[in-house]
Amino acid sequence: MTSSAAGGDLRAVDPRRFTGLLAESPLAYAAMVQSISGFGVYLIDARGNILTWNHGAELQTGLTHDEIVRQPYAALFDDASRAAGLPGQILGFAKYHGHYSDEHWRRRGADGRFQALATLDIVRDTQGTHTGFVEVVRDITADRKREKALYTQATTDTLTGLPNRGHFTEKAEQEIERARRYGDPLSVAMLDVDHFKAVNDNYGHHVGDIALQHVAEVLRQSARKIDIIGRLGGEEFAMVLPRANTQPAIEFCGRTRIALYRSRVDSPAGPLQISASIGVATLSREAPDLPSLLERADKALYKAKRHGRNRVETWLV
Ligand code: GH3
Ligand code: MG
Ligand code: MG
Repeated sequence: MTSSAAGGDLRAVDPRRFTGLLAESPLAYAAMVQSISGFGVYLIDARGNILTWNHGAELQTGLTHDEIVRQPYAALFDDASRAAGLPGQILGFAKYHGHYSDEHWRRRGADGRFQALATLDIVRDTQGTHTGFVEVVRDITADRKREKALYTQATTDTLTGLPNRGHFTEKAEQEIERARRYGDPLSVAMLDVDHFKAVNDNYGHHVGDIALQHVAEVLRQSARKIDIIGRLGGEEFAMVLPRANTQPAIEFCGRTRIALYRSRVDSPAGPLQISASIGVATLSREAPDLPSLLERADKALYKAKRHGRNRVETWLV
């Protein structure tokens, strides 16, 4: 875009050419928009050049008036968005539908960026001719970061970093629903650390905690990408094994059991050996949902405890 073309369009900044912008006192109105600091407000001409911006836009972008005004709309975007053609798509969408509203990344300063919630509306003159766009942008970086932190806090077990019981349940139920719909096999396993009370009693709660983190790490290492692991509470963990009927599930749990038994907990009390018992249940007509699968896996787990611990059992009825 040449500067003379942009300069020509600058005449469109006269608010009388924009319906809606024409208030009793256009100058007072413009001053009001100019002083808004919480939102970036831009006037963009029909060719996609930035005509005006306000204090909020300056704060959000970290750019100066001269770096932005008369520049193409794309100057507000980071390299990746520009390369993907996002600025043109947004203007095209707003022109076609009369409105655009969505979240995307914007450029901040020389090489930073921020998450923007942008709303564009097209502006027409009194004859109905499309003369440009008005855009309002909110910086939602901090909001999204806070939401993400809250989500993580609400869904993650702080000791092990695994999904907590609630989140595990939610993910497991989705996966079971999917398996049922497609008729895929699926198994659920429950794992309980053997004689864990003795670890706490002999070495202290802190070492017990380290041992639980170790169990979580072993589970992470042995799980496939599609498996869902969670800490149900205490020294009890659960796994959903999609696409695994009883035999592959037993084999997987056997490998996990051995991996745990062969590993050592790296603790302040020295390397510790721990073991776990595992119960397996497989999706069936008799066990069609998470509660029934967990109930059977729990029965299998206690069978494993009764039969001497450090072993895998199933519950087939
Ligand atoms: P079993 O082989 O029959 O499973 O015996 P166990 O000792 O593992 O079972 P029990 O249920 O008697 O003991 C579980 C212990 O786990 C008791 C509890 O204090 C401890 N525990 C539960 N949550 C935590 C935790 O977050 N950290 C630590 N260090 N200990 C925990
Ligand atoms: Mg237990
Ligand atoms: Mg136990």
